Amino acid sequence: MYQIRLDDLNRRSLLRKLRIIDSATGPEVRMDGRMILLLSSNNYLGLATHPKVVEAAAQALRRYGVGAGASRVTAGTLRPHAELEARLAAFKHTESALVFSTGYHANLGLIQTLAEDKRVIYTDRLCHASLIDACRLSKATLRVFRHRDAAQLASLLARKQPPAPALIVTDGVFSMDGDLAPLPELVKIAEQTGSTVVVDDAHGTGVMGPEGRGTAEHFGLTGGSLVQMGTLSKALGGFGGFVVGPRTLIDYLVNRARSFLYTTALPPAIAAAAVAALDVVESEPERRETLWQLTRRLQNGAHSLGYDTLGSQSPIVPILIGDAGKALKMGARLLEHGIYAPAIRPPTVPEGTSRLRMSVTAAHTPQQIDDVLGVLEKLRAEVRAEKA
Ligand SMILES: *Cc1c(COP(=O)(O)O)cnc(C)c1O
Repeated sequence: MYQIRLDDLNRRSLLRKLRIIDSATGPEVRMDGRMILLLSSNNYLGLATHPKVVEAAAQALRRYGVGAGASRVTAGTLRPHAELEARLAAFKHTESALVFSTGYHANLGLIQTLAEDKRVIYTDRLCHASLIDACRLSKATLRVFRHRDAAQLASLLARKQPPAPALIVTDGVFSMDGDLAPLPELVKIAEQTGSTVVVDDAHGTGVMGPEGRGTAEHFGLTGGSLVQMGTLSKALGGFGGFVVGPRTLIDYLVNRARSFLYTTALPPAIAAAAVAALDVVESEPERRETLWQLTRRLQNGAHSLGYDTLGSQSPIVPILIGDAGKALKMGARLLEHGIYAPAIRPPTVPEGTSRLRMSVTAAHTPQQIDDVLGVLEKLRAEVRAEKA
């Protein structure tokens, strides 16, 4: 039965296969016995292999062992977890922080808890799957507004007079499009209606804002109607998720969030690695500068070749292809040229918007970006022919 379904996925160019990498996750990786330029990692600042981050993990590994041994509320809160939470709260300029085992867990726990009071959730149509799953699990009423359309959100909320306080859920940086949420407008609407905005800053943390504090910093936002979630797994180069906000919210999450209570704590060495990663984010701002220079190089180059990058405003640079089969073929052609930026297809993105999703890291070189642009130029004729 599953074979029939797999064959069907394959026929529709929607089958996914796992590829094995035989090296650390750097700008170049070993795949199928040859070195490939990796252009699809979220390791934006190159911290997954930073010597200080690796050393902090190694030291904590020797001191605390491998596993945390239990859920955070039973016997699983170790010193590195507490240190990390203090650092995250300071980094994000909030009162408090709570670390979860993954960003996915953080979204489940946060939204389940906030939905106790806010029984209607409005989500951007292109929110990350973990947010959608979180909203569904919460059993709140789910409404969807058009991508980045704050005006439509306002009119949906105004259908009820006076508008009922709701939960407004969005990515900060959208994970497949690389564009930004209209966060100032969403926060304004929230303030007018007594609502709360949840921003998933998985791709904003360490990347957006003058000091890398995230999308809220990018827009100069603070304030009570905004709750931020993020991951340790992308720009911070490690693993895990977190929520930052007022102390009472964090204390309440400790008591209520099922994805926090009923799973084993993050390995302590991973928490220690994240502390070291935050040190590097603060002490080596040149990494972020390099990241943005390379990002603009790729964005501008792709534009001059006539590619549609879907309004990317971040190191996530999609190259719109459209049809899933064509995107798959383009991904394969890139790989023949030694570049790995796989085709992203439905259901990850809407039908007809399949794309190559490229992501730049500070560890890439200008030459590597130019090489990618060179290949994109060669493939341009093929894309045009395919589109016709
Ligand atoms: C990656 C991602 C997550 C999940 O984070 P993990 O730590 O990988 O579980 C959540 N939201 C968005 C927008 C993401 O891109």
